[in-house]
Amino acid sequence: MRGKLVVGNWKMNGLLRQNDVLLADLRAGWAAPEGRRLAVCVPFPYLWQAQAALSGSAIAWGAQNVSEHAAGAFTGEVAGAMVAEFGCTYAIVGHSERRALYGEGDATVAAKAAAAIGAGLTPIVCVGETLAEREAGSTEAVVLRQLEAILVRVGARIADAVLAYEPVWAIGTGRNATPEQAQAVHRVLRERLGAAGEQVQVLYGGSVKAGNARSLFAMPDIDGGLIGGASLKADEFLAVAGA
Ligand code: PEP
Repeated sequence: MRGKLVVGNWKMNGLLRQNDVLLADLRAGWAAPEGRRLAVCVPFPYLWQAQAALSGSAIAWGAQNVSEHAAGAFTGEVAGAMVAEFGCTYAIVGHSERRALYGEGDATVAAKAAAAIGAGLTPIVCVGETLAEREAGSTEAVVLRQLEAILVRVGARIADAVLAYEPVWAIGTGRNATPEQAQAVHRVLRERLGAAGEQVQVLYGGSVKAGNARSLFAMPDIDGGLIGGASLKADEFLAVAGA
């Protein structure tokens, strides 16, 4: 039984004082219903704060990126082992903003997923097509190419990962995929995962809010969501998580 997982991606948002309030409100408001898990992926400097605020609660935390390298002369990078020291469960890798703005290609994303697994983290591996790719009819080819790179690199350890289907045209745009559009892609991903697909959670991300979460999460192959904007307000995020 895969259960549902809802993960907040704060992106580059937050400051100490406002994080304190958000984390405390999440902790107080999350009733951890059966079969539901909740997590927040925060900026690196606030991992300690998430750890302090959420330790002993039913809410997990994680990072939004990790280096593909274990250690060494990589100025400005953060290794999976460093993130793991702060009690993280998850690390997002291959978010479309990293792919588009920081030039992370499939091979780099796959190396990051492997590094995260090697550090004992669960990578949340993002895949998704641009609007141009969708309109060209290549959605399936794009997400399968992205997934293939991960599978080649991590093999059976894909069982230790979470996938997130995030159509680029739906991220931060207010324009979400319909439940049917998302389900169709999730099905394709699940089929490619083969036997591992029984246990690997496949999240949907892209303008999920309290008002549309329930219909998305009701789809058989949608195991929850990766939530950007709506994870910055406790009430909204808790409503998504409970949807
Ligand atoms: C995201 O950043 O992963 C995301 C899905 O953002 P939003 O929910 O704001 O579209």
